[in-house]
Amino acid sequence: MNTLLQRHARHTPHVQSADCIELDGAQGEGGGQILRTALTLSMLTGTPFQIENIRAKRSKPGLLRQHLTAVQAAVQISGATVGGAEAGSQTLRFVPGVIRGGDYRFAIGTAGSCTLVLQTILPALWFADAPSTVSVSGGTHNRAAPPVDFLIRAWLPLVARMGVTQTLALKRHGFYPAGGGEVVATVAPCTDALMPLHLTERGAQRALRAEGIVAGVRGSVARRELDTLSRLVPGVEGTVRDLGNAEGPGNALVLDIEHEHVTEVFTGFGERGVTAETIGKEVARAAQRYLQSTAAVDEYLADQLVLPMALAGAGAFTVVTASSHLLTNIGVIEKFLPVEVAVRPLESGAVHVEVA
Ligand code: AMP
Repeated sequence: MNTLLQRHARHTPHVQSADCIELDGAQGEGGGQILRTALTLSMLTGTPFQIENIRAKRSKPGLLRQHLTAVQAAVQISGATVGGAEAGSQTLRFVPGVIRGGDYRFAIGTAGSCTLVLQTILPALWFADAPSTVSVSGGTHNRAAPPVDFLIRAWLPLVARMGVTQTLALKRHGFYPAGGGEVVATVAPCTDALMPLHLTERGAQRALRAEGIVAGVRGSVARRELDTLSRLVPGVEGTVRDLGNAEGPGNALVLDIEHEHVTEVFTGFGERGVTAETIGKEVARAAQRYLQSTAAVDEYLADQLVLPMALAGAGAFTVVTASSHLLTNIGVIEKFLPVEVAVRPLESGAVHVEVA
């Protein structure tokens, strides 16, 4: 653990650091991740922050239900004081207190993403004074957010290798626009510093598995998605998972690409007016780009790995491309933590990212 974190580690009396970090939410990607990363690192370092122009580059700027729930969750687990935590607000001031483990329940109330709320607070709970159980209800399979399958099979095993003891369970699916899903996480606080992860090679390929999930939608939709995908990506083993009417309506196509050192998860989200073949092609294109690259991870996993790596104070990975999410997240992380993240293009076309 780096020194700044050490000061605020569990069992350590909380010391407010003097300065308030100023953030511009319009910077770079200009999305919700700037706010979520700031909340996480503010809790962990004890540093207050003020953010203007929240989600300025999104079609509906400001705090939506999902972001507001992330703020409220952070307030609750860290006893923070907050100003500007209202729907639509584009400004927020957050002063963290002490992170407390415990049993928490957060309801987003819309199909807003459960996983993004969890990713905001779980890293803080890794360093809490006691174990935690967290239930979040809302969307579990949403566009523009990691589906819970991604967190469970791509993200969680990697943070586990860094020393995090955490489980994630999908209790009920929640699709846009109905929501109503639930994810439950358990966390045992870290007893030691996080270990650096070096993930520059993906290793030998082990499996290509796809699931066409339908809830209140005809099974033929999933079969057509799987047919399109396996025509374009040979070797995919596909199965249809029909959840019946209770958890829908909704549809997602989820492809796991498992290698020796990492599992990547690619998802297409069914939508009214978008054909099953289009969803199948969308997932196939993302998978082909990854398979043609030599990088260990794809762009989404990269921007979600860099924060745990920065908490460890060191680590490296190779990624297919350096997305604006990744670069923006690095900028926020470097404001809170005494780390430097070097991003270097490789001859292969992949990108090497190193935290030091
Ligand atoms: P923002 O747009 O700033 O709210 O951030 C969205 C987050 O969701 C980023 O961390 C992305 O990596 C992640 N994300 C978006 N789409 C996917 C997807 N299909 N699979 C995994 N993660 C995703």
